[in-house]
Amino acid sequence: MPELLKIGSWAEDLPDGETPPGVEISSDFREFTEAESVERIVHLAQEVLADPTFPTVRAWRAAGGKAVGCFPVYTPQELIHSFAMLPVSIQGGGENLEISRADAALGSFLCSISKSTLEMALTGLLDPFDAFVFPYICDVSRNLDGIFARVLPQRPSHMLHLPQNFTSPATIPFLVAEYRSLIAKLERVAGRPFSQEDLRASLEVFNEQRALVDRLVVLKRDSPWKVSLVEYYLLLRLGGLLPREVHVPLLRRALAELEGRERKNKDSIRVIVLGPFCEQPTLELLQLVEDVGCYVVGDELQMLHRWCPRIEPGSDPLESLATSYVRTPIDIGVRSTPTTKAAAILARVDASKAQGALFLTAKFCEPALEDVVLYRRALEGRGIPYLHMEFEEKSTTYEQARLQLETFAESILFE
Ligand code: SF4
Repeated sequence: MPELLKIGSWAEDLPDGETPPGVEISSDFREFTEAESVERIVHLAQEVLADPTFPTVRAWRAAGGKAVGCFPVYTPQELIHSFAMLPVSIQGGGENLEISRADAALGSFLCSISKSTLEMALTGLLDPFDAFVFPYICDVSRNLDGIFARVLPQRPSHMLHLPQNFTSPATIPFLVAEYRSLIAKLERVAGRPFSQEDLRASLEVFNEQRALVDRLVVLKRDSPWKVSLVEYYLLLRLGGLLPREVHVPLLRRALAELEGRERKNKDSIRVIVLGPFCEQPTLELLQLVEDVGCYVVGDELQMLHRWCPRIEPGSDPLESLATSYVRTPIDIGVRSTPTTKAAAILARVDASKAQGALFLTAKFCEPALEDVVLYRRALEGRGIPYLHMEFEEKSTTYEQARLQLETFAESILFE
């Protein structure tokens, strides 16, 4: 395996259509299936994330597969999987991607993920994908769908409407109809018809993944000293980059090691991290949160993999999939039920026995900022301390963040 690559603004210098250099993953994903330790898995995950050329998708294509890129936060990836295509979570370009062309096309007061996603489309980095899905989570994601239709006209882009009213009897039929409209596009891309039996099989694969993810989340909540935040995050993040059939056994092996770990429980405070459900903080920032003495015992990272509990396929698996979205207890900024927010955040604080809340919100992310306003009131009402920090994909200096986090942790520790 090549070592970690630091990739700069090379895309500018490439002739049109030329594939940029990047990390190579074998088409049977041997590196992941044979990774013998959490340390090795984490190293591989860091390599893959440092490389904006989507090495896992290129490996999948080298084996003859098709791939569909899914913008955060929620796409029913089971549907894509049922067509034997690879559903991939597109979560921005990360810190190694230089933004040049997208800056000229988008306003400056927009989140980094919108710019880096467009930059990747304009510079050929998304060429390994056959189609894209943009859930309508905010005005930014809605506009990206339209922009993609113009800049990548040969690759279908679909805007997925998700309901905001969860009590109307029309909600589930509405979502089933939305899924059918997505299915019509997926059929064209995959070149095969939708099958209920295939969806049933995919639901079972995703159920396995959910059960393991749930174990990891419980481990992080109950024994946070056994798994660092960066390890936890990378194990989850791989779930949207690797074929599920590779991620499930990898996560099972990792959990066996992590659950058996003998590590000392430090005198750290327990915090819940709110806000990073779409754009992703850097690994350095996640590391810093725990370095200053916080154990993260609840979070909103990589929510796709824990959107709902097990889905029973039932007689109509498509309806079961839609019902699972509507009935989920998840209450984050892009699935807004403002009237239940206060109770939801307090229940999460109680369940995780958190001593404080850390709002980590992407700069210019309106849904996350709305949550801050609503959650803050509820936290203040119960006297729960909180800190609000903003981040960008290309954050490079953390001195001020370190100072803020240290002050926050000490104020709780010595209160
Ligand atoms: S980071 Fe926030 S504003 Fe930007 S696309 Fe995601 S949800 Fe929308």
